[in-house]
Amino acid sequence: MRIESIKLNNFRNYQVVDLKIKQPVNIFYGNNAQGKTNILESIYYAAFGFSFRTKNEEELKNFTAQDFSALIEFSNKYGKNTLKMLKTSKKEIFYNENKIRAKEQYGLLNVVLFAPDDLQLIKGEPSLRRRFLNMEIAQTNSYYYNLLVKYNKILVQRNKFLKLSSENVISEQEFAVWDEQLAMVAAEILPLRQEVLHKLAVLAGSIYQEITGQKENLTLHYSIKINNEFKQDIYFATAQQWQDFYLEELKKRRSLDLVRKYTSVGPHRDDLTILVNDKNLKAFGSQGQQRSGALALKLAELEYIKEAKGEYPILLLDDVMSELDQTRRQHILHFINDKVQTFITVNDKELVNYLPASQYYQVLEGKIIEE
Ligand code: ATP
Ligand code: MG
Repeated sequence: MRIESIKLNNFRNYQVVDLKIKQPVNIFYGNNAQGKTNILESIYYAAFGFSFRTKNEEELKNFTAQDFSALIEFSNKYGKNTLKMLKTSKKEIFYNENKIRAKEQYGLLNVVLFAPDDLQLIKGEPSLRRRFLNMEIAQTNSYYYNLLVKYNKILVQRNKFLKLSSENVISEQEFAVWDEQLAMVAAEILPLRQEVLHKLAVLAGSIYQEITGQKENLTLHYSIKINNEFKQDIYFATAQQWQDFYLEELKKRRSLDLVRKYTSVGPHRDDLTILVNDKNLKAFGSQGQQRSGALALKLAELEYIKEAKGEYPILLLDDVMSELDQTRRQHILHFINDKVQTFITVNDKELVNYLPASQYYQVLEGKIIEE
């Protein structure tokens, strides 16, 4: 995929932007607080319908404005397209000028973001890794996206139900209704996650070997949380078996769930376990190993989307160049080559010097100056 142009109105600190993108590699450089990340945010927003920096979309609107919009023109293997986000008193999304719903937007423009926070992918909480996996699968599989939406709705309802009730007044039948619905959707989510994780593991493993010069071996495992412990590599052959598994686990934990007022088992509790040379990278990895691990996961995500969609997504690199050392920086740049259209933000343009097929843009107080 290639972005052809970016048009913004009153987006963050930009009043009007009308930028034609001509090159595979685009470097936005400049001092702090000039608007570099804002540009990447606008691309991300058009791709996913939300920002990676805030849950409050109002923050995207220029301080002095009433409305804002972001329009991205892009081409994929089928031709040219536009995605436009328009926020007035309400929010509207247009794909090739036709109004679409949020769930139809996801996956039209494929984007992978790598930002300093992603270095937390290894060290951070399980929710970060679940989100990583969810976003990756949902971008390439709208059925999975819908499953997640469905699952979350049921989960919210079940948790509400737990909060409103005390153990004595909940009947077996009431519980059974929620558990059955939850188990049915969970039974579809799990095999999809495991299938994708398996592919991702192969990709991330070979990228990690490359980064470390064939010296270290990275593996990924799906971990299911049961009884406050993560159990690796549980597999069932059929959806029915998965459903039975979840029904039983949910049932076993009912009384505890009632005390805690939340649902303690299900895909929303799971994790990916990342091992390097058979040791848990989160617990035992050095800072450098963890960085290489995060980088390998992100690049594997790119490759996975390429395999699933038949073309590379857009890569957004926000400020990661300064966070990575020379070797890892070179690795990314070598990986991108000119096959992945990339948008890079950096303070010092020397950090991404001598790239072929690249365009530099200086960003200064909400203005973009092409070099
Ligand atoms: P750094 O190098 O520090 O990451 P940056 O160039 O990436 O900086 P951005 O995060 O893109 O900076 O932009 C930050 C600037 O945008 C700040 O000056 C901030 O005040 C301004 N800004 C953020 N939101 C809005 C808004 N809604 N309206 C106007 N200006 C905004
Ligand atoms: Mg920034």
